[in-house]
Formats: sequence, C-alpha cells, structure tokens
Amino acid sequence: MARYTGPVCKRCRREGQKLFLKGAKCYTEKCPVERRQYPPGHHGPASVRRRKQSDYAMQLREKQKVKRIYGLHEKQFRNLFEYAAGRPGVTGENLIIALESRLDNVVFRMGLTASRRQARQLVRHRHVSVNGTTVNIPSYRLSAGDEVALRSKSRDLDLVAASLEARTRPPLLDWLSLDEKRRVGRVVRAPTRGDIPLAAQEQLIVELYSK
Ligand code: SF4
Repeated sequence: MARYTGPVCKRCRREGQKLFLKGAKCYTEKCPVERRQYPPGHHGPASVRRRKQSDYAMQLREKQKVKRIYGLHEKQFRNLFEYAAGRPGVTGENLIIALESRLDNVVFRMGLTASRRQARQLVRHRHVSVNGTTVNIPSYRLSAGDEVALRSKSRDLDLVAASLEARTRPPLLDWLSLDEKRRVGRVVRAPTRGDIPLAAQEQLIVELYSK
C-alpha cells in the first residue's frame, strides 16, 4: 500500500489537534491547527457545529489519531494491536509501549530528528545502527539495553545537527539516554505507559478492535 504523501497538516486538522508530524513548524504560530480550528474541506467550518459524535466515531478518530502520529498503515497498526493483545497486561498500554519501542520512534524521541517521518527516512537510508549492526527497518522493536547510534558517515548530517540544536526540541525521556556528541543513545529501560507523553485514550482503540 502506498504511503500517504498529501499535506500532513490536514491530518492534524481532521483530528482537531496537533499531531506533531512536521517537526519545527509544529511549535510555531505557523501551525495550521492554531490558525484554523476546524476540519479541512469545504464543509469543515460547518461540521464543527454538528451534533455530538457517536461512540463508534470517537473510537475511530482515536485510532486514526494514534495511527497517524506514529505513521503506520492500517494493517501494520492492526498487527501491532494483535501483538499487544497477546501480551500479558493491559492491551491498550501494551499497544502504546509497542509503538514507542519502534526504532523510528526512538530515533525521534532521542532528538536526532525533528519528526518521526524524518526518523523513518534516516533508518530506511541505512544511517542508523542498533548494537553495532545497521538496521533499515523502521518498525524494528528495541528492548532495554539496546544501543542506537548514527553510523560514522551519518553523524554530521545537517538535519541531525538542526534537530539537536533546535530550541523547540522536547526534553529527553527518562527511559532513554543520549551522548549528543557521539550521536549514540541507549534504551535505558523499557518504558511504562506513564513514561510516554502521548495524549491518547487507548482504551477507545481496544473497544474499536474488540467489536
Ligand atoms: Fe500538525 Fe505540525 Fe502541521 Fe501543526 S504544523 S498542523 S502540528 S503537522
């Protein structure tokens, strides 16, 4: 299935909130969600006044929102949900933790790129290694203790330097570490749901897929 290549800001406007898909622009007043607080399209402004959403609509929108934040296709997302459902513990939390443990997400969370999109491209183009081995699979699942590094020829990439120096860069999460100079990071421990700054109601996704 082809990846969505249309305007990503429309996706945020559809969900009615910032999904931070574009990097630095997301933190400025140029963000379209700040300027136009209604869904995209001809009927966008009118739809804001429509009646309350059904339970199904709320579950669907929550799933679409999380799927878009992490940049997954429906099938990938569904497979991850099945994986999460088969693990011990709370399915919704397992799902978010599995999403956070993806290599492209960890590269982004370490601040090596300004967006998950850039991180995915960095991984695909073989700029990233895990425990000393080049990995070009964005969905590669990391575990506690794994070392994530940029390969020597990739350490001075402009986009990496710009991301690390950006004033808008979010703080490094507790479960990750990073040596900025060497461009080497580590998954210090497995994250818990409480460690993940994601405003999502994952139980709605579980309800949707459990129908
Ligand atoms: Fe979303 Fe970022 Fe575009 Fe704002 S600038 S609408 S947060 S992708």
